[in-house]
Amino acid sequence: MRIIIIGGGIGGLALAAGLRRYAFDVTVFERDTDLAATGGYHITLDGRAQSALRELVSPEIFERLLGSASALRLRDPDALWDRRGRLLGHGPYLGDSASVDIDRVTLRTLLAEAVGADLRPGRTVTGIGRDEDGSPLVMFADAAPVRCDLLVGADGTHSLVARHLAGVPTNAPAGIIGFSGRTRVDDLGPAERARLGPRSGLAIGPRGAALYIGYLDPVGNAVLDTPALRQAVTTGPTYIWGAMFPDSGDTMRDARGAALQSALLARFRREGWSPKSLEVLARADPNTVAAFRFHAASTHAPDLAPWPAGPITALGDAVHATPPTAGMGAGAALRDAAALLTHLHPVAAGTTTLTVAISHYEAEMRLRGSEVLTQAMKTVRWILATNTPFGAVATPLLAAAHRLRYRTDKTRSRPRTARP
Ligand SMILES: Cc1cc2nc3c(=O)[nH]c(=O)nc-3n(C[C@H](O)[C@H](O)[C@H](O)COP(=O)(O)OP(=O)(O)OC[C@H]3O[C@@H](n4cnc5c(N)ncnc54)[C@H](O)[C@@H]3O)c2cc1C
Repeated sequence: MRIIIIGGGIGGLALAAGLRRYAFDVTVFERDTDLAATGGYHITLDGRAQSALRELVSPEIFERLLGSASALRLRDPDALWDRRGRLLGHGPYLGDSASVDIDRVTLRTLLAEAVGADLRPGRTVTGIGRDEDGSPLVMFADAAPVRCDLLVGADGTHSLVARHLAGVPTNAPAGIIGFSGRTRVDDLGPAERARLGPRSGLAIGPRGAALYIGYLDPVGNAVLDTPALRQAVTTGPTYIWGAMFPDSGDTMRDARGAALQSALLARFRREGWSPKSLEVLARADPNTVAAFRFHAASTHAPDLAPWPAGPITALGDAVHATPPTAGMGAGAALRDAAALLTHLHPVAAGTTTLTVAISHYEAEMRLRGSEVLTQAMKTVRWILATNTPFGAVATPLLAAAHRLRYRTDKTRSRPRTARP
């Protein structure tokens, strides 16, 4: 069985690594020429995403991944602030969290290493077709079509493959425009360092303006104490932040670097944010500041992958494009990859047909996609709910509602125990 994957992002590479591990014939076509130069910040992998990865990559690659990751259990509980930097509440105790954060570039580079020569970078797929016996054909602008038995679209939010199957785009803009960047903790003043602390948090203001501040420290908060294995791009405690606004066709989106950083600061100041709450943004490395638009598929499982099962399928953002607000999109792509691999084993053994296997895989993927989208859209709706003339009132009310969801016991502070 010849398998072609379009897209060497997180899901496509993970699937290819798993297929290669079990001796399937697989090729990945990826349009990027340099997989390490493609940007991105950090990816959260919960326990289920890590179990999927364990199925897909060798124990050696898995250990190097964990050796390059930052453990949530070593972080203080998340915080919720208002636009003046005042604390509104805390998230739950994280000491028993299994989740880890890893640089997107590190994850992608290690997965690419696992795929080896089966990855073909610099190859952009321009179309999908079928040959006379119905087998999938992959088209290129500058090369002959390639035939396969199974074609997997792992080509992300603007997927050519999912659009070919569904006949329409499988997602739409979610109504929020995001801007992200990196700020080293050491570049902040002592007061702001103390206020933010070794934790992630969300600051929220009126008119839908929000600032997520994620704490990443693959060295001090390393999952494994194995410096020799470490390949993290982040080499010291760093805040990876994401600013969010309701998407109104903003012209800021066309700016880059320092100009974008200045425009962002000006926008927050106009919304009444205090200098204190903006220090993390003001002290960012301008070269890391970038804009992106959130896309979301339907939260309703039957709307996902709305096509009959066959020799062309898809995974990850191609099917269930998920805004980063729950930190679950990449994990869902990894879980799709592991599930598809599991369903392909009986096909290789000759005990089931490809169509039956894909049908089971897609049924599970619809539920998985719906679950992560439902989580991610809660925060999107919450942010958009402050985009009203009453936003300044709504913010503390929403914060109070948010606080009620969490434990109020005194165990919120991290017990600083040794790493296992
Ligand atoms: C540049 C970038 C940075 C990101 N940064 C973050 C981040 O910091 N944090 C976070 O949580 N999430 C981030 N994401 C999103 C996250 O990586 C995805 O949600 C998740 O990994 C889903 O994985 P996927 O494999 O479905 O899609 P992706 O990881 O988006 O991969 C899709 C791949 O398909 C390739 N592709 C698309 N069309 C074609 C074509 N026609 N021919 C060949 N190749 C094609 C793309 O180049 C890309 O590599 C980022 C995504 C991108 C693309």
